Amino acid sequence: MSRTPLQAVRGMNDVLPDEAERWEAFEAVIRDWLAGYGYRPIRMPLVEPTPLFKRAIGEVTDIVEKEMYSFEDALNGEQLTLRPEGTASCVRAAIQHNLLYDSPRRLWYMGPMFRHERPQKGRYRQFHQVGVEALGYAGPDIDIEMIVMTRRLWQRLGLTGIRLEINTLGDSAARAAHRAKLIAYLEQHIDRLDDDAKRRLHTNPLRVLDSKNPQVREVVAGAPRLEDDLDDAARAHFAAFRAGLEAAGIDYTVNPNLVRGLDYYNYTVFEWITDQLGAQGTVCAGGRYDGLVEQIGGKPAPACGYAMGVERLLALMEAGGTTLAAAPSDAYVVRVGDAAEGFAARVAELLRDAGLRVTVHCGGGSFKSQMKKADASGARFALIIGDDEAAAGVVAVKPLRGGGEQQSLAPADAAAHLRAAASAAAPLAHGGQS
Ligand code: ATP
Ligand code: MG
Repeated sequence: MSRTPLQAVRGMNDVLPDEAERWEAFEAVIRDWLAGYGYRPIRMPLVEPTPLFKRAIGEVTDIVEKEMYSFEDALNGEQLTLRPEGTASCVRAAIQHNLLYDSPRRLWYMGPMFRHERPQKGRYRQFHQVGVEALGYAGPDIDIEMIVMTRRLWQRLGLTGIRLEINTLGDSAARAAHRAKLIAYLEQHIDRLDDDAKRRLHTNPLRVLDSKNPQVREVVAGAPRLEDDLDDAARAHFAAFRAGLEAAGIDYTVNPNLVRGLDYYNYTVFEWITDQLGAQGTVCAGGRYDGLVEQIGGKPAPACGYAMGVERLLALMEAGGTTLAAAPSDAYVVRVGDAAEGFAARVAELLRDAGLRVTVHCGGGSFKSQMKKADASGARFALIIGDDEAAAGVVAVKPLRGGGEQQSLAPADAAAHLRAAASAAAPLAHGGQS
């Protein structure tokens, strides 16, 4: 058997403990923030029938054409796909379980998504999203709320310099009218289009609008505007959306070429973009998808939602110097001597009964080497237990951070002392939030 060390799949990352603690602190903020807006969690499988994504996202999209991890179930031949995004699954689940029968739903989820892209900074093959979906709401009040709530999240995370771009895609009649004009226009400039754009010209010309190729963008700059084909209802919706943003004091720019990479959007679309992450600058994107519920087999229901890239948000926090600190361990238990072992383990359980975070040294070693480990652990206190302490039924409590005298305390008193120190240092340290 080969002993070459095995590596993770390219573009799929391990999140090691220092970083994973930041993720957990981030997730705690997310949960609390979403609860604050009445959103409830939902968890869907990571694998779905392939036709779900083809139908929901659209056949002629980056995701369905080339980014999906699809495979055949070896037992029954069913075509399956690792989810590339969450909206299709969330809507599928809502329909399957009849969640919309009596009222609209505000739902959210968080987890890994899979896309076969070229890995680079901010772009991975397994990445993570927080997805937020409001099913059964026609807006534009909820569209506005979605922008207001994301602004609050940026504030909570200490993020600055994220700008908002918005657009409206109208309804399907407007897009059909615009599509015909767009095809005619692009055909006139076909010699300046790249292969992708040429291929999409007749299948999905709207997607040519968000090409990243500079030469194609020049062509796009002169293209007919979808705006001219909007009907009164679409105009009114967009006007109300914009007025709501203005009333909430939110700056935005209208980007007529913002079309989003998935077919299911209509009316409002938006992206929150930063310039601090290079080319991968979109940290949050979404919009309205009023046709999707019906498209995947439900009773027609309007809806909107958005997804945030977790890796990109965490990178942005790091770039801005904001950190979400994990609460440190309260105590590291140093134990030397046979009698100390069992007593120390019992003391640690008693401290945990009191809600404290305690790491007990395992694996033996000298007092000195154990104290080094205690220091390196980041714990606030070392609890030192030798055979003398075990015999006397006390522990030596030594502060490792911020000074103070070592003192000898009965276990219950040590617990009270540590709790007091923990709540003085970080009132929220045990409250689940960083
Ligand atoms: P892009 O144009 O960057 O490919 P997208 O339109 O494909 O983005 P969405 O499907 O809207 O992205 O996903 C929402 C968010 O998820 C993105 O704004 C981004 O923050 C994040 N995201 C998307 N794809 C990746 C990826 N491969 N790696 C890391 N984050 C991603
Ligand atoms: Mg993409």
